[in-house]
Amino acid sequence: MNPEEIKGTQQTAQTVNFIRTIIDEDNRTGKWGGRVLTRFPPEPNGYLHIGHAKSICLNFGLARDYNGVTNLRFDDTNPVKEEQEYIDSIIEDVHWLGFDWEDRLFYASDYFDTLFDYAIKLIKAGKAYVCNLSAEEIRSYRGTLTELGKSSPYRGRSIEENMQLFEAMRNGEFDEGDCVLRAKIDMASANLNLRDPVMYRILFAEHHRTGNKWCIYPTYDFTHGQSDSIEKITHSVCTLEFEDHRPLYDWYCVHLEIHHPQQIEFARLNLTYTMMSKRKLLDLVKEGIVRGWDDPRMPTISGFRRRGYTPKSIRDFADRIGVSKKESMVDYSLLEFCIREDLNKTAPRAMAVLNPLKITITNYPDDLTELLDAINNPEDASMGSRQVPFSKEIYIERDDFMEEPPKKFYRLAPGKEVRLRYAYYITCREVIKNENGEITELFCTYDPETKGGSSPDGRRVLGTIHWVSARHALHAEVRLYEHLFTLEDLNDIPENEDWHNFINPKSFEIITGWLEPSLKNSTPGSRFQFERLGYFCVDADSNESKLVINRTVTLRDSWAKINK
Ligand code: ATP
Ligand code: MG
Repeated sequence: MNPEEIKGTQQTAQTVNFIRTIIDEDNRTGKWGGRVLTRFPPEPNGYLHIGHAKSICLNFGLARDYNGVTNLRFDDTNPVKEEQEYIDSIIEDVHWLGFDWEDRLFYASDYFDTLFDYAIKLIKAGKAYVCNLSAEEIRSYRGTLTELGKSSPYRGRSIEENMQLFEAMRNGEFDEGDCVLRAKIDMASANLNLRDPVMYRILFAEHHRTGNKWCIYPTYDFTHGQSDSIEKITHSVCTLEFEDHRPLYDWYCVHLEIHHPQQIEFARLNLTYTMMSKRKLLDLVKEGIVRGWDDPRMPTISGFRRRGYTPKSIRDFADRIGVSKKESMVDYSLLEFCIREDLNKTAPRAMAVLNPLKITITNYPDDLTELLDAINNPEDASMGSRQVPFSKEIYIERDDFMEEPPKKFYRLAPGKEVRLRYAYYITCREVIKNENGEITELFCTYDPETKGGSSPDGRRVLGTIHWVSARHALHAEVRLYEHLFTLEDLNDIPENEDWHNFINPKSFEIITGWLEPSLKNSTPGSRFQFERLGYFCVDADSNESKLVINRTVTLRDSWAKINK
């Protein structure tokens, strides 16, 4: 996609999408009395990723635009996989994205008592039963899409017996796996989710919030819809894979006679070269393939934050991709476009050399240092200017010199003149090589009349290159990142193939960079454009003795050919 095409995809907050059409219609008919209450319901079993960001921006964005509010609810039904670390990270990430749930932070586990009462209500109505089939038997009795289900032999238990058995389950009188509570719906339903789904299972596990109060836990499917109902959610927005679960959530609301939210499904975000499953992201962390959940290669919100992405760029991305009912694959370059757009306006410029070639300016005074004015951001005059030191020995990028240049090479070459950004015109006089014939240094001369980068005689140079003064440069560890995977569409990995085979061995590289000295005291999280190289940010690993810099994204455009 080129930037023009990308711009064409832009949606604004008021852009029509099918969910807004539904809400507009609800407001017209007065279905919810004009109320819009959405929620973002993560399961705290991993860090949030860019797909979750889409859902967060959608839910909070809808509420904002319709004068509603959004709850944050942890769907913490699985005591085994959930941890406080994940809860803390989710809270931090949603706030960082710029959204606020005020005092509406909820946990599905807060509803365990109510859910237990709901279960009793269904048992008493003859709509739930305790089943002693094993998990495997339940699966095989369920049937398939082409084969009807078979009733459990325990389906006909009396209400009294079910009440007794369920109480016994709750009191810890059975072992894990001995029995479960199931809804009594329809073993012949075309929808497998309605073939007597499990509501409660026995788990002697400590829950991070309810401790050892319970040894039975409700399933996700017996929790999620009712949690929405308890919170009086109006529009329960979720991803398409829950479309088949909607009839079940509806069934529970109808038979429990409780508030009945409208579930609306949309297509999840798929991004090229990006793994979006929390389980596999956890594997990447556990196996040490990445340095943690916030590794700048991870598609997690914390990874993007550490990489240097701004909340605004991610919200902008979410706006541009919009929502639809159709699965699609979004090009990673759209995300990069969004961060470049934002940082172009906000990131101060600086000069840094990542692959240095030394230049000695033979006619420049040995001990002189001049401080030259450099503009901090040509897009924003209010960001002012700074001074960069210039001296006899400088570094330029190796790529900016060619001994035998092709015709359209406008940068430095033997006998050629270029502009050093904010400094002088220099001309290459001599190429110095070592015994292996490798270029180690250039001898150049400068024209003292061209200070600031323009010539009083109107002489033109086509190339402008960046540089740093060797004596003044700061040494930094610069971390370069590429996609973590080599495959564009990770959904294409066949079932029997190991996804590890598609990990990019070159996704991470550490090099030494030479930076202009103004960056000396920059703090973690500070973002810069290194002229002609890209956007970079200071990593949390930096300290007083070591500067660590992440490359956020390369620059598509360079001003190598710009004439001043
Ligand atoms: P994963 O599939 O990565 O494990 P999940 O769906 O199990 O994610 P949840 O914590 O249940 O993770 O997700 C919270 C919310 O975020 C849900 O409403 C879910 O629909 C939404 N969500 C998850 N992944 C995506 C995605 N790729 N695009 C859009 N929304 C998503
Ligand atoms: Mg989920």
